[in-house]
Amino acid sequence: MANFKENIKRINSSESISGRMPDYDAIVVGAGNAGSAAAITMASKGLNVLLVDRADPPGAKNLSGGVLWGNDLAEILPKWQTEAPLERFIDNKKIGFLTEKSSIVIDFKTEFFRDNKIAHSVLRAKFDPWMAKKAKEAGALVIPGITVESLAIEDRTVVGIKESGDTITANVVLLAEGVNPRLSIEAGLRKPLQDRELSVGVKEVIKLSAQKIEDRFNLTKESGMASEYIVGSLGNLNIGAFFYTNKESISLGIVSPMEELRRNGVTHTYDLIEKFKSHPSIAPLIEGGTTIEYGAHLIPEGGIDSVPQLYGNGYMLLGDAAGLAFSNGLVLQGMNYAIVSGIKAGEAVAEAKARNDFTAKSLAVYEQKLGSTYALKDLKTFKDIRKVTNNPKMYTVYPQLLEGILLETLWERGQPKKKTRDVIGEAASKLSVGKVKALTDLYGIYRRM
Ligand SMILES: Cc1cc2nc3c(=O)[nH]c(=O)nc-3n(C[C@H](O)[C@H](O)[C@H](O)COP(=O)(O)OP(=O)(O)OC[C@H]3O[C@@H](n4cnc5c(N)ncnc54)[C@H](O)[C@@H]3O)c2cc1C
Repeated sequence: MANFKENIKRINSSESISGRMPDYDAIVVGAGNAGSAAAITMASKGLNVLLVDRADPPGAKNLSGGVLWGNDLAEILPKWQTEAPLERFIDNKKIGFLTEKSSIVIDFKTEFFRDNKIAHSVLRAKFDPWMAKKAKEAGALVIPGITVESLAIEDRTVVGIKESGDTITANVVLLAEGVNPRLSIEAGLRKPLQDRELSVGVKEVIKLSAQKIEDRFNLTKESGMASEYIVGSLGNLNIGAFFYTNKESISLGIVSPMEELRRNGVTHTYDLIEKFKSHPSIAPLIEGGTTIEYGAHLIPEGGIDSVPQLYGNGYMLLGDAAGLAFSNGLVLQGMNYAIVSGIKAGEAVAEAKARNDFTAKSLAVYEQKLGSTYALKDLKTFKDIRKVTNNPKMYTVYPQLLEGILLETLWERGQPKKKTRDVIGEAASKLSVGKVKALTDLYGIYRRM
């Protein structure tokens, strides 16, 4: 803190910004996954880094489901699996559909996940302060409780940040300010976000004893289960839902596209989460639990089309602020994308410093580096995924079709049995799904997923 105050004093002097040495090699705005990863990467390379976050402790207000895939984290913090405040390693993944009365789920429990323990459930209120602490240990100056008000811009170059009338300068400012990137938008570094680029996530953490969790989900003391559902039966909205086990709690929630909420106009997100919790397949799993946390947060879901120019003179955009998150209805990942973008941005700054050139041309190496990782590749590969995730039949008609087929096939009602092709034909005609339309939908899903 002393350092920060000293800097402020110096900057308050009559000296103009241009022509003097910047205070830092890099300032990182936001100590979420992206910002802390960038700060760790740069500080480990000996750069003079300031990491600021509006929350105290840093990142403490952040929200995820959340299952963290730690491959990238291992690059900068090799001991993360033993040192980080992790909940349970996930070796059981479930994906499926919820209809009003049924759940149709693929239950994938695998030793492949158990052997490398790369996926863990985390609670961000514990995890993010730990990552920020690691940035501090690497040598970054970490200042929590600072809301950056705007960017300092001179000659079309970002030269620093402004807060309470003070300006702190740096060769480069890394904007890791999350899904609602106010600073970047106000400075014209990216366009304001549209409904179609966003979903709303609502989450509850429900306290339940470790023993109950382990018994109910057939887990060991350390293992965990993560399930994701496609749901079309809650309040006439087509949404996703998640359910993850922590050590002594359950994280569950719903994710609804903004466009769906707007289209529906009457359903509130809190109604949706209540309905999800009382679904006949979910309610028994949380019986006896107490809600200890409740939160809502936006999620960037615009895909590659909503990724802006990632760099310019004196700045870079990282993580959610750059729209770097992946969702296909069954998988929601953003923390690993944020971390890999932080690492690549940090490496790019170190190279720019070696050249002593922080212009857009020099910082372009960030996009090249990120382009060689799964982060940009995934968004490009799945650029048309919204044609699948936006297809209302995926949420209602096809789950009901599947439910109808399973009921006819598995439910003994003392009636003559039918051949599978007749079962499918009858279930389809009840729901008026044309064969051609169903086949073209299936082909579309096959091509895009
Ligand atoms: C309901 C839900 C479920 C999710 N589930 C998963 C999951 O299971 N797995 C997964 O990988 N991802 C998941 N995600 C996505 C994931 O949470 C994000 O992609 C990830 O957190 C992005 O990290 P970030 O560092 O870019 O942004 P954030 O984590 O949002 O961090 C941004 C930081 O910037 C700070 N900040 C913002 N503005 C300012 C300012 N002006 N001054 C100072 N500080 C500022 C904030 O305080 C915050 O700490 C989920 C998201 C939601 C909402």
